[in-house]
Amino acid sequence: MKYFVLTLGCQMNISDSERLVTVLEGMGYAPAQKEEEADLLGVIACSVRQKAIDKVYMKIHKWNRMKEQRPVITFLTGCVLPADREKFLKLFDLVFTTNELPGLPELLSQYGVVTPYALQEQQKKSTPPARQPGDMLSLTRLAQETADGNDRSVLDRLWEIEPSLHSPFEAFVPIQNGCDKFCTYCAVPYTRGREVSRPSGEVLEEIAGLLERGYKSITLLGQNVNSYGLDKKGKEITFARLLERIGGMADATGRRIWVYFTSPHPRDMGPDVVDAIASHPSLAKQIHLPLQAGDDEVLRRMNRKHTVDDYRRIVRYIREQLPQTTLFTDIIVGFPGETEEQFEHTRQVLREMEFNMAYIAVYSPRPGTVSARRKDDVPMKVKKDRLHRLTTDLEESALRATRAMLQRTATLLVTGKDRKDGYLSGHTEGRIPVRFLSPGGDTSLIGKFVTVNITSVAPFSMEGELVSVEEEIWQESTK
Ligand code: SF4
Repeated sequence: MKYFVLTLGCQMNISDSERLVTVLEGMGYAPAQKEEEADLLGVIACSVRQKAIDKVYMKIHKWNRMKEQRPVITFLTGCVLPADREKFLKLFDLVFTTNELPGLPELLSQYGVVTPYALQEQQKKSTPPARQPGDMLSLTRLAQETADGNDRSVLDRLWEIEPSLHSPFEAFVPIQNGCDKFCTYCAVPYTRGREVSRPSGEVLEEIAGLLERGYKSITLLGQNVNSYGLDKKGKEITFARLLERIGGMADATGRRIWVYFTSPHPRDMGPDVVDAIASHPSLAKQIHLPLQAGDDEVLRRMNRKHTVDDYRRIVRYIREQLPQTTLFTDIIVGFPGETEEQFEHTRQVLREMEFNMAYIAVYSPRPGTVSARRKDDVPMKVKKDRLHRLTTDLEESALRATRAMLQRTATLLVTGKDRKDGYLSGHTEGRIPVRFLSPGGDTSLIGKFVTVNITSVAPFSMEGELVSVEEEIWQESTK
């Protein structure tokens, strides 16, 4: 039997999908090349944009039509707002949170479906009462029905699952789940719940395994990654200490390794985090620090818990300690009540910060959030105009940074084939995308560090000529 999973949204969802794949394959399911071949069809959803939710509706309507031809089971997990969950329960066979993923085998066996061998074996052991198709339920309910005396938290069980990594050289490592900040526009505290830090011993063990296997790029994930440990104050190390430990382990390999993290919150971005990055070559010199708005009144209404001056202070310290770092951000335009003057403040801050990249989103209300109760009073035409003006400003600062790279060499991690025929693409340590012509279309460079000479630039990407390929020291030393 085969499964097909559509993953929408951020890196956290990709990371969750790697654990989902382990669970499904452990049950005996094999991956389907296309959805038409699959017996089990699932979505890892994202609630950040309406477009992603629309895609879920599109899929489930298609899959429910497929049910008329043959039996398939559908499930939904990921970031789903409570209001949407109610609607989806009527459309999907199973709806569960990612925390509840470890219980999927029990859920499917309770559902009374014909399952692959591994699941049938499990059924033999615990003959649960069969459910009828149409018995919609979530794992939360199942957990309540079948209290198993297990005192480990459900999240611990999720993190214990060995991920089926999507790449042999780049890995995501979740270190925290949920968020306590409650920004008024954001669905995360409702879809993923309150902040929970993963035990540092487990994080370090997973990182050690990746280092041993020669991984070159590791990204630590959390919705509010730098508040790591705060939920277990005194019992867990801080984010800065965790970074130091990881940086120390990666540096000790003697290889080039880039360790990233995303996304931090300005409020928890202390000098200790910046100092940790400065002290370890393996901690990548790239920081993604969401600004969201450059006006204190808008920030207050967003419940961001930081001011523009707080943000300035952190960036000043970053620039002093890490002059080579690239700086990325997130900005929302057209938040309810945003005046032209307030938007101009955001423009000024964007110019001042000289960002290399900004993910600029046009505000759209997410049902169930606080800001969705406010009037979405900035007309779409105005929002789009603000998006355009901000993007133009961003292009100027980003281009200044990429121009400074012209005719210089840069080290890249080659990540795949480029859209341009015969070219490969990758990114610098600062995560600036670069493409280069691969001699003879050689794809064996994918997953390697190479040096290129930068020959042309655009604001957010560069093009270069291959100079050399970095020796794989770790392979030599492990022979
Ligand atoms: S910090 Fe704000 S924007 Fe980020 S996940 Fe938490 S609530 Fe959402």
